[in-house]
Amino acid sequence: MPERVIFEPSSLDYPLGQRIHEYFKDKPVAVLMASEKNAARSIPGTTPAEKYANSKRTLLITTNKLKKLDVCRPSADYQFSLVSNCPGHCEYCYLQTTQGTKPYIKVFVNLEDIFEVIKDHIKQNEDKTTTFEAASLGDPLALEHITGSLARTIEFFSGLEHGRLRVVTKFPNVDSLLNLDHKQKTTFRISINSDYVLRFEHNTASLDERVEAAAKLVHAGYPVGFIVAPIMQYDNWKGEYDALFRELEARLGPELSRKELTFELIQYRFTAAAKELILQRFPNTRLDMDEEKRSLKWGRFGRCKYVYPKEQAQEIREYLTSQVLGRFPQARIQYFT
Ligand code: SF4
Repeated sequence: MPERVIFEPSSLDYPLGQRIHEYFKDKPVAVLMASEKNAARSIPGTTPAEKYANSKRTLLITTNKLKKLDVCRPSADYQFSLVSNCPGHCEYCYLQTTQGTKPYIKVFVNLEDIFEVIKDHIKQNEDKTTTFEAASLGDPLALEHITGSLARTIEFFSGLEHGRLRVVTKFPNVDSLLNLDHKQKTTFRISINSDYVLRFEHNTASLDERVEAAAKLVHAGYPVGFIVAPIMQYDNWKGEYDALFRELEARLGPELSRKELTFELIQYRFTAAAKELILQRFPNTRLDMDEEKRSLKWGRFGRCKYVYPKEQAQEIREYLTSQVLGRFPQARIQYFT
């Protein structure tokens, strides 16, 4: 539940904007009106850490007018957003640098416009299947109890011949999605990690809750996978990742462990700009961001990121691959990056 909700006036022209406004009427939450340009002014805080924490408790209800979607390799062909950002406070979050000094959470209410843009992109791809990632700029599950917009989107995709939806999450809000007619066109991936890495995540679901959500989704017939990200090397990393996969196998049980699960493996990376912001927002962070121990890799948009040197990356890849395939015989590793 947020502390303050700011409505961009045009959001109230849409049924979802009106519904969210109604939802907050009797909640102990400050409801404000402001244009998107002025929204950040309503968020208190003087230090970077205060601004960050208060922004993560603020929703801006607004619209998304994007007509051209960004590509989203390797997880999907394109990405689109129902929300941007999320209420989690993960120290390593790759969104640290993309949301400004006050990273409040946006909720987009013009779903029909968003669906039209998706249809346009499918049309351009002719008869091929086009995949869309809904969670690369935020976590829609974190707000699903307020918006219901992921449920609408799953139903929208169930009617598309050539479109597939992909969603990744660290939140277990799946109950309202279990009885939808999804026609297996939505794939969920649950983010999991070792005990050590989970300590850098705050205000997200526990591993138990995530695995329980994954099991519910499998039982509801959704294709389900796991994303292990970010993978870090530290003292006893092998022992902890071994324990993670052992625990996952035990919790899923023999029946679910033999389903066709997918795994995506992503090693830890950071940029110089992210490091600077992380140190301001989490001054006591124990994240290992020592550039001396990393290799530089050019990313999209000319951004340079620090990744593990080749031999270490290879060791991570081989170790996690053997863990996954050893415990989940039908699993498919989609990529390691
Ligand atoms: S849950 Fe995902 S989007 Fe939210 S703070 Fe954590 S890493 Fe970032």
